[in-house]
Amino acid sequence: MSSERGAVPDSANPDVVLVGGGIMSATLAALIGVVAPQWSVTVFESGADVAGESSGPWNNAGTGHAALCELNYTPAGPDGRVDPAKAVTINEQFQVSRQFWSHLVREGMTGSPKSFVTPVPHLSFVTGEDGRAYMRARHEALGAQPLFEGLEYTEDAAQLAEWLPLMMAGRDPRQTVAATRSTAGTDVNFGALTRLMLSDAEGRGVPVHCNQRVQHLERDTDGRWIVTVRDTVTGERRTVRTRFVFVGAGGGALPLLQRAGIPEIAGFGGFPVSGRFLRTTSPELVSSHQAKVYGQAAVGAPPMSLPHLDLRLIDGDHSLMFGPYAGFSPKFLKAGSLFDLPRSVRPDNLGSMLGVARTELALTRYLIRELMQSGSDRHQTLTHFVPD
Ligand SMILES: Cc1cc2nc3c(=O)[nH]c(=O)nc-3n(C[C@H](O)[C@H](O)[C@H](O)COP(=O)(O)OP(=O)(O)OC[C@H]3O[C@@H](n4cnc5c(N)ncnc54)[C@H](O)[C@@H]3O)c2cc1C
Repeated sequence: MSSERGAVPDSANPDVVLVGGGIMSATLAALIGVVAPQWSVTVFESGADVAGESSGPWNNAGTGHAALCELNYTPAGPDGRVDPAKAVTINEQFQVSRQFWSHLVREGMTGSPKSFVTPVPHLSFVTGEDGRAYMRARHEALGAQPLFEGLEYTEDAAQLAEWLPLMMAGRDPRQTVAATRSTAGTDVNFGALTRLMLSDAEGRGVPVHCNQRVQHLERDTDGRWIVTVRDTVTGERRTVRTRFVFVGAGGGALPLLQRAGIPEIAGFGGFPVSGRFLRTTSPELVSSHQAKVYGQAAVGAPPMSLPHLDLRLIDGDHSLMFGPYAGFSPKFLKAGSLFDLPRSVRPDNLGSMLGVARTELALTRYLIRELMQSGSDRHQTLTHFVPD
């Protein structure tokens, strides 16, 4: 990506400014290229390179959220039944993404799909009688849906040892286990996809400026936006005028929208909870776990905290990731400031933030418990998945 400085001439007033160089801005740049190719588009990324925050392959688990294995999309009701509606909607959305990526590939816009999406079976795995009853109910509900056709179920340890050798080795044979498997799952490298889409956009004349932080957005009297951009290396500032701004700034979105003063942001707050993962590239371990496997979340845990053991295929290398373990930092971005959180608290969102602390007591307790964990506690969590 270009990281030239002083590269935005004063006359460059594009139709669209995309703030941030992650998967969201990259996707919108690709979509605009398809539906409105005559529009001029400019991307500003504050980091030295694109895809350095959440979209970077080591900063997420790359399931693509197809709802094939994430149990949080199919909670059991009070009667034990599972409503498939949410999982179906989410899977439909993933199919739309896949159709769009197929279109980009067919048009020669993203090179080979192998560089960003790989088939990897998706499994859900539970233990105990309650877990087994839930898994049966989930399989019954999802198995009847056309999008989940072929979803397999087993509670047979021998079958599971075939599907999940690493997770079944050394497991107590008296333990009740159950799992579903979908071979339609994938591993998505959002970092690679971001780069491919943005480099294709650059080829169509979309400037992608790195080291350029959007500091301020202001609506002019003619309805256009005045975008103030600061070069993070030289400190130089410039302004750009544009018809549309898309804030694809991830953790940088809240502060930017607050500074823009748009009424819609009043009341919104953010609390930065991060996810930390263990990772191995040991060929022996990787070869005995060729899947993405999701378990059930602890009580009060947020959906992102479902423990999972994922095969990852990043830039040709195979590895396993296990986590997430919740972490906390007041920074909203990895490359953020320790003052991000305190600066984001305003009179208009203080009520919302205190309200969350009051109504989400289980989440608060979960976070405190997670943050107090020692190394051996974390190891214990891993052994629920990998007894050996
Ligand atoms: C622990 C974890 C696990 C996840 N697992 C999965 C998964 O398995 N499957 C899945 O589909 N999703 C997963 N996700 C979610 C997914 O990674 C994110 O939803 C997605 O990457 C967000 O993309 P984005 O473009 O919105 O943000 P980002 O990738 O964070 O991009 C935002 C960009 O904006 C830049 N920026 C910020 N402020 C400014 C500014 N003022 N000016 C200019 N640039 C700015 C940042 O530097 C950054 O590059 C996971 C996320 C986490 C945290």
